[in-house]
Amino acid sequence: GNAVPPKPVLNPQPVMSTPDTHPRLEIRNLRRAFAGREVVSDVSLKVTRGQVTCLLGPSGCGKSTTLRIIAGVEMQNSGEIYVDGNLVCDTVHRVPPEGRSIGLMFQDFALFPHLSVADNIAFGLKGSKSNKRARVLDLLEKIDLTRAIDQFPHELSGGEQQRVALARALAPRPSIMLMDEPFSGLDERLKDEIRDSTLDVLKAEGTAVLLVTHEPDEAMRMADEIALMRDGRIVQQGAPYNIYNAPVDKAAAAFFSDIN
Ligand code: ADP
Ligand code: MG
Repeated sequence: GNAVPPKPVLNPQPVMSTPDTHPRLEIRNLRRAFAGREVVSDVSLKVTRGQVTCLLGPSGCGKSTTLRIIAGVEMQNSGEIYVDGNLVCDTVHRVPPEGRSIGLMFQDFALFPHLSVADNIAFGLKGSKSNKRARVLDLLEKIDLTRAIDQFPHELSGGEQQRVALARALAPRPSIMLMDEPFSGLDERLKDEIRDSTLDVLKAEGTAVLLVTHEPDEAMRMADEIALMRDGRIVQQGAPYNIYNAPVDKAAAAFFSDIN
C-alpha cells in the first residue's frame, strides 16, 4: 500500500488544547542579566490575535532586550516563550529565530535596494509563483501602494518605504509581529499618519503585535493593551485609558504627563 511516512515534529507539542483561544505569544517569568545586573526581571505577557500590545517605558528599561529574547537573537537566563501555544524557548529547548513564526520590524528596516517593491515583499515567501504574486498584490492593496509595484526603494518616500517594509514583514503571515520603535526614524510631521496607516494594515491582517516604544502618545494611539515597564519590570498593565487615568504611582503619572 501507500505507506505515508510520519511527519517530522518540528516543534514540541502544544501545551494548551484550545487553538482558537490560546495567545499568539506568551512569555512567562523572563529574566536576563548582563554582568550581574538584571535588566529584564520576571517579565510575563500575553498577546492575542488582532491585538496590539505596547511595551512602554523609558530608555534603558529593558524593552529591546525583551524583544530580542522573544525573537531568539538573545538568550534569557530563565523563563519561557510560547508562540501559538508551542514552547519555542526555555533554558532547555530552543527553536532558532527563523523557526518561530515571528515577524520583525525595527528602526533600521532597510529594504533591499536592488529589488523592486514586489520582490522585496515576496522575498521571504515560499510556494508557487502565482500564490506569491497573489499575496504581494493583496498586501500592496492593503498598504495602498499598488501603483509602486515595479518601482525601486530609492524612488519611494520614507513613509512609503516604511509601508513596504511592513508588507514584507507581514507577507509570510507571522503568528506575531515584534516592532521595536519602528517610527523613531521618521519625520515628526508624518509620524501620526504613518502610525494610523500601519495600524489599519495590522488590523486588516489580524496580526498580533508586540510594539516597543518609549513614547506614551504612540502607545495611547496604537495599543489595545499597554504594559508599562520600568527597571526591567512590568509595573502596570491594562487598557490605555485605564493606565492613563489611573497610573499606578507618581513615576507612572509623571511619565504620562507630557502627552500633548
Ligand atoms: P530599552 O530598549 O528599554 O532602551 P535595552 O533593553 O536596550 O533598553 O537595555 C536595557 C539595559 O541593558 C541597558 O542598561 C543596556 O545598556 C543594557 N544592555 C542591553 N544589551 C546589553 C548587552 N548586550 N550587554 C550589556 N548590557 C546590555
Ligand atoms: Mg530599545
